[in-house]
Formats: sequence, structure tokens, C-alpha cells
Amino acid sequence: MRLAVIGVGLIGGSFALALKAARQVSHVVGAGRSEANLRLARERGAIDSVAPDARTAARDADVVLVAVPVAQFAQVFADISPHLSAQAIVTDAGSTKRDAIAAARKALGAKVGLFVPGHPIAGAEKSGAAAASAELFRNRRVVLTPLKENAPGALDKVERLWKACGANVSRMDAEEHDTVLAAVSHLPHVLAYALVHEVAQRRNAEQLFSFAAGGFRDFTRIASSHPEMWRDICVANRDRLVLEIERYEEKLRAVKALVQAGDGAALERLFGEAREARDQWLKRSS
Ligand code: NAD
Repeated sequence: MRLAVIGVGLIGGSFALALKAARQVSHVVGAGRSEANLRLARERGAIDSVAPDARTAARDADVVLVAVPVAQFAQVFADISPHLSAQAIVTDAGSTKRDAIAAARKALGAKVGLFVPGHPIAGAEKSGAAAASAELFRNRRVVLTPLKENAPGALDKVERLWKACGANVSRMDAEEHDTVLAAVSHLPHVLAYALVHEVAQRRNAEQLFSFAAGGFRDFTRIASSHPEMWRDICVANRDRLVLEIERYEEKLRAVKALVQAGDGAALERLFGEAREARDQWLKRSS
């Protein structure tokens, strides 16, 4: 099986490494924006060859993975569309799904059935081929958001590939996907970026950072994530994200009122309920 990876970063590089480790691919060709990153991807064995552009990479591919920041999808789909064979399957790793599907529909037209949308719920605050790992997706969830035009064979094939990477695959509607991810992924990233930014802009930022310890580090780890990637996610999913920011503002206002009132009992109850919910979640997900 010949795989083309457009965007050989953390996710694209990890997919290629995992499929190679599982002996699912005979050749991986990579295309990207950064020559240095592609060279590194080759040195690390994620890709076997480098194509000058996405369309060349896609030309003879059986499967094409699009793993670039989501604002680049429209351009990539438009580039590869005329060059896809009728048997090719295109899939993606984009963190938002409604926009990826809209971009695919526009660029692929009648060929849109070739596109099986996917999202690995696994990642890191690191980026680039340097951070890629064959183990990134092991025991992690991958969500496919199928189109009515997808042939069952295409869906099964993409599912089999993610399973070969060690992932647990489920299917979901794209609308629901974007709503759910806004709450548990996109909102936390915005909060982490906002908190670090707010602290960093104060006159005594240096002093504040020098006293920041484990709590600050844990809460803000994801503020080290790739700014371009998160810019694109926030813009693509802005309707759902704004609703989540508003919910959070409401909650924060309620917590602020308890703090202002010095209502220790209510605060303890709220913290206890939150801790219990988190403990239960950790137990279920371990
Ligand atoms: P990354 O920055 O590590 O890799 C993206 C790669 O795409 C880079 O090498 C970049 O040079 C390349 N690229 C950018 N624009 C391009 C273009 N127009 N044509 C070709 N190559 C281009 O990012 P990542 O973390 O691997 O994320 C890739 C995709 O996966 C994004 O859509 C992101 O939303 C999604 N995703 C990320 C995570 C995560 O935690 N990092 C998790 C799940 C899904």
C-alpha cells in the first residue's frame, strides 16, 4: 500500500511511523512546507521519499492522509483533487470536522466519497516530525465522521489503518464531534493560552513566573501547543467555541460570587463534586 502524507508533522509523522511498524505500508511519500522538517521525517524513517508538492505526492497513492493545520485543507484538497485515482482514499487528521468536510465537498466535488474524515484524539503540545512517534495513537481514540457518500469499503479501510496504529476507532456525526471537542479540547486550550498571556503581560510577570509551580505548569502545559494549529481550530469551530466560552464565563461568575461571599461550604461542595467527576473520568479512561 502506497501512502501519501501531506503535512509530515506530529500527527502525519506518527501515522506513518505506526503504519510502518505494523507493516501496513510499502512506501510513504511526504509533502510539506518545511524542507528541514521533511528531511528529518526521512531521517527518522517516517517517509521514504519527498514529493515537491501535495499533488505529486497524491498522484500514485492508495491512501492520502491530510495532516496540515485545518485552514490549509481547502488548498490541499484543491491541489490533489485532479490527481486522485478512482481507487484512492483520502483521509485527514483535522481537529475540526465540519470545516474539513465543507472544504472537501467544495474541492473534490463528485469525488467527495473518496474522503473519509477522521480525527485522532491523541496528540501533544509538541509539533513537527521530531516529535512523531509510532506509539502516539496506541490505546487512544480516533473518531471517524463518515459522509453519506463514503463507500463502506473506504470506511473500513481507514478504520483498519487506525486500528493497526493501536487506536480505538469510533464513528460520530461531524456536528456532534465539533460540539463535544469544543467543550473538552478547544475551550481548555483557549483558557491555558489566555491565562499565560494575561500573566505574561503584567509588569511583574517575571516575578509571577518565578513563583509559578506545579499547578500553573499543569494547567498551562497546553499553552505550549502550536499557535497556528490552534488559531485554525478556534476560527473553524468558532460558533461552538463561543458557546463554551460563555458557559465557562457563567461558571466563573458563579464561583467568583461564592469567593466574594466567603461561602466556604459551597466552594468545598463544588470543588468536591469536580474532584469526584475527575476521579471517575480518570478511572473510566485508565
Ligand atoms: P504539526 O505542526 O506538527 O504538523 C503540520 C505539518 O504540516 C508541518 O510539518 C507543516 O510544515 C505542514 N504544513 C503546513 N501547511 C502545509 C501545506 N499547506 N502543505 C503541506 N504541508 C503543510 O501539526 P500536527 O500537530 O501534526 O497537526 C496536524 C493536524 O492534525 C492539524 O489539522 C491538527 O488540527 C490535527 N491534530 C493535532 C493534534 C495535536 O495534538 N497536535 C491532535 C489531533 C489532531
